[in-house]
Amino acid sequence: PKTIFSGIQPTGSVHIGNYFGAIENWVKLQENGENVIWSIVDMHAITLQHNSTELKENILKLTAVLLACGIDPNKSILFQQSSVSMHAELSWILACLTTMPRLAHQPQYKEKSQTLKDVPLGLYIYPILQTADILLYKATHVPVGEDQVQHIQLAEHLAQKFNTTYGETFPMPIAVINKDFGRIKSLRDPLQKMSKSESDTKSRLNLTDEPAVLLNKIKKAVTDFTSVVSYDPENRPGVSNLVSIHSMITGMSPEEICKEVKHLNTGQYKLFLADILIDKLNPIREKIQLYMNQPKYLQKVLHEGTQKAKDIAFKNWLEVKDKVGYGTPI
Ligand code: ATP
Ligand code: MG
Repeated sequence: PKTIFSGIQPTGSVHIGNYFGAIENWVKLQENGENVIWSIVDMHAITLQHNSTELKENILKLTAVLLACGIDPNKSILFQQSSVSMHAELSWILACLTTMPRLAHQPQYKEKSQTLKDVPLGLYIYPILQTADILLYKATHVPVGEDQVQHIQLAEHLAQKFNTTYGETFPMPIAVINKDFGRIKSLRDPLQKMSKSESDTKSRLNLTDEPAVLLNKIKKAVTDFTSVVSYDPENRPGVSNLVSIHSMITGMSPEEICKEVKHLNTGQYKLFLADILIDKLNPIREKIQLYMNQPKYLQKVLHEGTQKAKDIAFKNWLEVKDKVGYGTPI
């Protein structure tokens, strides 16, 4: 049986990278599994400095965003990671099976620690917690954006390691990637990915941004001094990123897009793309507003999701404990 699991951090405003890289696919996959589980991974959200009040608000806001995008609590389980304590417990067991050099190679740690003087241990070991998230539900399919592929490979490695150490327990989780474009890049620095936690808000296009804000951010997107629109991620990362976004919205290939807009210069193209993006995001933004006005309902959704998640997790956790030897001989 197929079990689908994925998570998203309540670290800030959800952007179109999250949407096209992950959430859009989640909505389709709801129809496709025996267990389909989405987690708001608040334990991951404290690996970098955070503000408690903001974190609480972000958890509720993210719930509203996911429902507005089409996550349906009757078809899939939506829950908050920290309310299922077995994530932390399993991650300890997995930490004992992981070596330090393997973690040192993980991409996110390298990227996110670049500007830090002292790296928190939590940031370093967070891929282990991510593995625990996946294995706790014996997930077989993990739909993520391209930036997460190496983390899912670690999960695969640790599943295997656990199985050879303690006996066959976990299926191999595989990463399911939505689109072939890699990651959506920052509008301010097209060599970095678009991120929730980046401090420059002009770097990302949020699902909650008003049309005027979207237009302004796209206008200010870093491109180059060539005026035609072409798709060449190596040499023209800025304009190619815009074409990728266009392609994700419309389903047209980059080549088709460049042909369609060959009469526009990059400045005109930005206005053209802004219109398309605004049309796409308007209905989502309106739905987010509606859900945000119903905090009691959002809390109820999370609460019910937690109960369902716990039921699945507990069964697997008992098996893990037994295999590891947490018990006494009968
Ligand atoms: P943070 O900066 O806090 O890590 P994030 O924007 O990277 O935030 P996550 O919560 O880490 O978002 O990831 C949620 C999902 O969105 C993951 O599946 C991830 O692969 C995907 N994702 C994140 N950024 C991008 C991007 N720029 N392009 C495509 N997919 C992305
Ligand atoms: Mg991330």
